[in-house]
Amino acid sequence: MPDLVIPPRAPVLLPVEGSDAIFPVGRIFCVGRNYADHAREMGADAKDPPFFFQKQPDMAVPGGGTIAYPPLTANFHYEAELVLALGAGGADVPAAAATALIWGYAAGIDFTRRDRQNEMKQRQGPWEIGKSFDASAPCGAIVPAAALPAPLVAGPIVLTVNGAVRQSGDLARMTWSPAELIAALSRQVTVRPGDLIFTGTPEGVGPAVPGDRIVVTVAGLPALEVAIGEPVVRS
Ligand code: MN
Repeated sequence: MPDLVIPPRAPVLLPVEGSDAIFPVGRIFCVGRNYADHAREMGADAKDPPFFFQKQPDMAVPGGGTIAYPPLTANFHYEAELVLALGAGGADVPAAAATALIWGYAAGIDFTRRDRQNEMKQRQGPWEIGKSFDASAPCGAIVPAAALPAPLVAGPIVLTVNGAVRQSGDLARMTWSPAELIAALSRQVTVRPGDLIFTGTPEGVGPAVPGDRIVVTVAGLPALEVAIGEPVVRS
């Protein structure tokens, strides 16, 4: 085998609840506007078909922790989300077969530069600068689907900032269910084991600032805690 000219990228690994096992992250897909109440607060039609954007795997923050306030924003928003971790892949997967692709579930945050996202909406440009940046995808420990009595399609999703509830919804209010999201994504790309899907956020998104402590709980999954640190000083 030829020498690698640079070191290969180390895999990003998520903890698995109740186990020493770890889940290697493949790609990160996120769905936009998947709760009617959040779509309305963003000024969109709740019945739009699902659409996806991506973050890079090394933007995950496994298990949470402290992250720096990011550059290029003065309106840094949290979005509490259920994360699906796929253990199998496929293309054109029917919704009736899609739940079987889910290896496990976790609590996540789709951090967003809302000011940059809104600018791009106005310019009809890509959301990339608003969504895809360092530490923009904290993800908690994964609970294996096999450890749950049933697929996760209902249950409270709550985000607090410094102990105050800012988002409080229910997974049952998703416009598109986890199975429907996987089916839709698999028509767009071949989904693979290791892929994470952030399934959208309920209403109540808002700004985070340095010093904030954010906690996300989703339907009994391990809580995800993230502290916002000072911006990184760039020379
Ligand atoms: Mn989101």
